[in-house]
Amino acid sequence: MTRNFLAIGECMVEMAPTGEGTYRLGFAGDTLNTAWYARRLLSEGWDVSYLTGVGRDSVSEEMLAFFEDAGIRTDYVQRDNDRTVGLYIIQLNDGERSFSYWRSDSAARQLARDRARLDAALAAADVLYFSGITLAILPKEQRGGFLEAVRAARNKGATVAFDPNLRPRLWETGEAMCATVMAAAAVSDIVLPSFEDEATYFGDAGPTETVNRYTQAGVPLVIVKNGPGEVLWQSDGATWTFQVPPVTEVVDTTAAGDSFNAAFLASHLQGTDLETSVAAGSRLAARVIGRRGALVDISQAV
Ligand code: ADP
Repeated sequence: MTRNFLAIGECMVEMAPTGEGTYRLGFAGDTLNTAWYARRLLSEGWDVSYLTGVGRDSVSEEMLAFFEDAGIRTDYVQRDNDRTVGLYIIQLNDGERSFSYWRSDSAARQLARDRARLDAALAAADVLYFSGITLAILPKEQRGGFLEAVRAARNKGATVAFDPNLRPRLWETGEAMCATVMAAAAVSDIVLPSFEDEATYFGDAGPTETVNRYTQAGVPLVIVKNGPGEVLWQSDGATWTFQVPPVTEVVDTTAAGDSFNAAFLASHLQGTDLETSVAAGSRLAARVIGRRGALVDISQAV
């Protein structure tokens, strides 16, 4: 029987500089990046779908075609008559990238507006994947309902994976971000934080504190990424570490965490042991940061 991996969040139009004064149009977003890699790594026995909102304009159509070309199902993409997709521009100044965003009224922000529709989509999934950015973009009065829908799907047997992806600029306050992220962790089976962000916004002194905080919130499996440092994870009361492979030339760290999550989850969900799955996550992330851009061709097996 086909199993369903459902990623939930926002994909944006990306305008990336070509170096010749023009910009190349692409599509990216944290949860979409994970869905994109997961589609490549999961067997044909899995469907990968993306739940988001888009408009009815031609760039929204192009985004849908991009999902479909990548093998990502669009059954749960909601079409909005009055809004369109968000956009960001990357600018290069002396090799440093800076980002400008136009996303405050994007169609994706409405993805949880219709609760019955959301419940139906989540009920059809075997695995749900979302992030702190998914929560941040929702109107704040819809976040509780979204997490209730996740909890209901989990109670019916879905596995829930969550990356806190802390982005304080998207939230009203740092307190709202931290409180909502911990509420999301409490309805998750797997939490995949990045230590640097957690240290900055939760004040964790070391990865062990991050693992303990999420474990105490009731998360069965916590996997703390830490850039080039070792990955620390906890499951069934025991902790393990894994030294990630060194990367000699880091070209662009965009989507390091997103790709790690995809390869880890694809491996773990297909029955592989945790250490091998963490190694798969680290190996894919190492390949992704060695190339420019979020979505790197990985036609060879990782
Ligand atoms: P995020 O992109 O979410 O901030 P991290 O920086 O924690 O994520 O990195 C995610 C994963 O990417 C790490 O666990 C590691 O496997 C890989 N990674 C990131 N930076 C490096 C690096 N400099 N060298 C080797 N691996 C890295």
